[in-house]
Amino acid sequence: MRFDIITIFPAMFGSVFSGGVIKKAMEKGLVEVHVHDLRDFSLDKHKQVDDRPFGGGQGMVLKPEPIFAAVEKIKQSEDTPVYLLSPQGRRFDSFSAEEFAQYPQIVLICGRYEGVDERVIQYLVTGEISIGDYILTGGEPAAIVFVDAVSRFIPQVVGKMESVKNDSFYEGMLDFPQYTRPRDFKEKKVPEVLFSGNHNKIRYWRKKKSLTKTWLLRPDLLRSRKLSPEEKRILEEIETEEKGKKDEPN
Ligand code: SAM
Repeated sequence: MRFDIITIFPAMFGSVFSGGVIKKAMEKGLVEVHVHDLRDFSLDKHKQVDDRPFGGGQGMVLKPEPIFAAVEKIKQSEDTPVYLLSPQGRRFDSFSAEEFAQYPQIVLICGRYEGVDERVIQYLVTGEISIGDYILTGGEPAAIVFVDAVSRFIPQVVGKMESVKNDSFYEGMLDFPQYTRPRDFKEKKVPEVLFSGNHNKIRYWRKKKSLTKTWLLRPDLLRSRKLSPEEKRILEEIETEEKGKKDEPN
């Protein structure tokens, strides 16, 4: 899969993909990240890509012509989706990350200042993507988040797809707790069940921990998820246990 990122600060991408899973994926040819300097597409001899907003007001706005020219040059097919990183966009999440991983190429436009000329949104892009309800100084950190999260869903990028599917959100739940050596750290012990060798018991313990964490920290995830009969039973157990804890005298 190929990501093409249009930015006025290409240097910001210098080292982010030079380590870890994404670097390995790039070395194996599974992922390509191409960063394009918007100024290279400026029609202006001073390489200007922004201007003052019509109607007055604060700040600068990215001009439409260089963005249209960049997208036209970069798109490898008519069907290539083009997304503007924007706080006004569709909220990016695990489900959309998996959907985006199906495309052979995605073009990402990083806004800056007050944003981009509205005609880019109306007539050029496929959509807008937000990484959360807060304002960044530019779309570059959002593009990095997007490339990282989408790449994990490309086959073979993460060693085993099963570990991607076990992560938080994939099954509509938070991940279970993980432990490693030492077994006893400052008298804080790893739960005994993990040494039992009984795979069914371990699976059940993990599912219960997952459900407990989700129930306590992100109950909204459970409301939009279809529960299996076993999960319903475990949730009833959890609710009874948690209620018992509350009723205990201090
Ligand atoms: N005036 C804009 C607004 O209120 O909607 C915010 C502009 S922001 C300072 C500059 C750029 O940062 C945006 O054009 C966008 O590309 C990027 N950006 C800011 N917050 C973002 C978010 N939550 N998700 C994705 N991109 C964001």
